[in-house]
Amino acid sequence: MLNPFAQAQFVMSCAELAQCPRDGRPELAFSGRSNSGKSSALNALCGHKGLARVSKTPGRTQLINLFELPTGERLVDLPGYGYAKVPGRVRQDWARMVGTYVEQRTSLQGIVLIMDCRHPLTDHDRQMLEWVRNGQRPCHILLSKSDKLGFGAGKNTFLKVRRDLQAMGVSAGVQLFSAQTGQGLDEARAALWKLLPSAAGLAIEIAPSL
Ligand code: GDP
Repeated sequence: MLNPFAQAQFVMSCAELAQCPRDGRPELAFSGRSNSGKSSALNALCGHKGLARVSKTPGRTQLINLFELPTGERLVDLPGYGYAKVPGRVRQDWARMVGTYVEQRTSLQGIVLIMDCRHPLTDHDRQMLEWVRNGQRPCHILLSKSDKLGFGAGKNTFLKVRRDLQAMGVSAGVQLFSAQTGQGLDEARAALWKLLPSAAGLAIEIAPSL
């Protein structure tokens, strides 16, 4: 598959929701706890090593980073969450900003939730899924760093997360993903691309004419 995210380019960082553009362009947002592999996943999806910063100090930034695709649609890197050293006030600010964004941003087309496959569905992930449900957002979950688990353990995790989501009443795509080995990369690109409105347009363009 042609990589529809290959030409993503950094546009701007926003410290507040009010700074985010109000042009109504469709957005796909990436969320995950600090160290979940969110930056690595974004870089792998876009095939661009330095696009999102892979941080060694989780929780360092609380910025919303925006990337633009040639279609004009955007990828939105939401600030990571759940880092123990972050003070309570910062956590509250995070919850207000990200919760409002996920529940209310009209241009938001879907959420990509990144969870380390060895520690899925933390309290923060569950909070995010509640916002996803409140906002009635499509959601695709990447169980990241799947290279850290063997085949059987990975499959069990996948099945358990799917069961837990069902029990929570959340409807979301789930898959194993490794930025390191590329496991699940094509599947993720295809699933995420489908969440964006111009997917239909591109499908027509690249489909061989009959
Ligand atoms: P973020 O804080 O969620 O943006 O996470 P990062 O992308 O910065 O990754 C956190 C750590 O996990 C880094 O040390 C990465 O090298 C590592 N990591 C990310 N993705 C993978 C993966 O697919 N496999 C393995 N083994 N490590 C990964």
